[in-house]
Amino acid sequence: MKSNKKIKNIAFIGMGLINSSLARDLKIKKFYFSSAAYSRRLSTINKIKKLKLVDLATNNIEKVVNEADLIIVGIPVAAYAEVFKKICNYIKPGTIITDVGSVKKEVINSVKNYIPKNVDFVPGHPIAGTENSGPESGFEGLFKNGWCILTPNKNISKNSIKLVKYMWELVGMRVDIMDTKYHDEVLAITSHIPHIIAYSIVGTVANLQTTIKKEVIKYAASGFRDFTRIAASDPIMWRDIILYNRKSILKMLNLFKKDLSNLEYAIENNDDKFLLNLFTKTRKIRKDIIK
Ligand code: NAP
Repeated sequence: MKSNKKIKNIAFIGMGLINSSLARDLKIKKFYFSSAAYSRRLSTINKIKKLKLVDLATNNIEKVVNEADLIIVGIPVAAYAEVFKKICNYIKPGTIITDVGSVKKEVINSVKNYIPKNVDFVPGHPIAGTENSGPESGFEGLFKNGWCILTPNKNISKNSIKLVKYMWELVGMRVDIMDTKYHDEVLAITSHIPHIIAYSIVGTVANLQTTIKKEVIKYAASGFRDFTRIAASDPIMWRDIILYNRKSILKMLNLFKKDLSNLEYAIENNDDKFLLNLFTKTRKIRKDIIK
């Protein structure tokens, strides 16, 4: 399949924030002739239909994948194995599967036995999103100027990788190819641990005595507010991400705890130099990121 060719039949497994945003962009870009989406719940299927995101929206997964040339999986990572097991007998030879899951190594391991021999799986992870869920939360342009990481294994055909790369570039992303373990470590520190910290600090407030809790919520300035935005992310999705990336997260969490202890020690000892150095360094990192 040539990378600049239009896809005949595209299939979306799951139609939440990410897949529905992708469907919106790919429709505008006329990337495919025909589209279908699978979702479990009737309420979600009705939303997909109302939003006119695809030509066919159904909970009949066989119908969605059996004619597909490209399948895009966008469901919580712990649900992959069950879903791949269901679809593996219906996928036609030559089909390319990709996904948008936030963890790669263990998730790919969980499905590798369900990928037919003549089918290429090009795992992907668009680094873009919000704390909202469902097809109604998706929007055009979500991926613009972001990075997408692909983690294909050595046996995947170059043409399949090219096609998936082309798809993400079409919606405005820059694409990097990465080893699965490396991807999971990078994402542990850049995304998963910030979420853990947010869940933890908002959880601490939830456990405070009622009177103090009321005041914290009433006077929440940007610091705590920012944490609550992240801590409002989908509980199932994040439970899965954290458990499937346990190894990398625990490794990075250890580094973080050491640095937090150093900071605690500096505060205890009135070490103004330590605090000023750290805060100056972190301010520079923020400026570099924004640049
Ligand atoms: P979402 O908005 O919550 O939508 C989830 C979709 O998966 C829905 O269509 C839902 O179907 C379906 N689903 C849920 N549980 C399922 C199960 N057990 N079996 C089959 N289908 C199931 O999710 P999302 O935010 O788009 O996230 C999807 C994937 O993208 C996740 O793997 C996540 O790690 C990754 N990701 C998310 C973000 C982000 O910021 N949200 C960013 C990058 C990558 P029903 O509604 O019909 O139940």
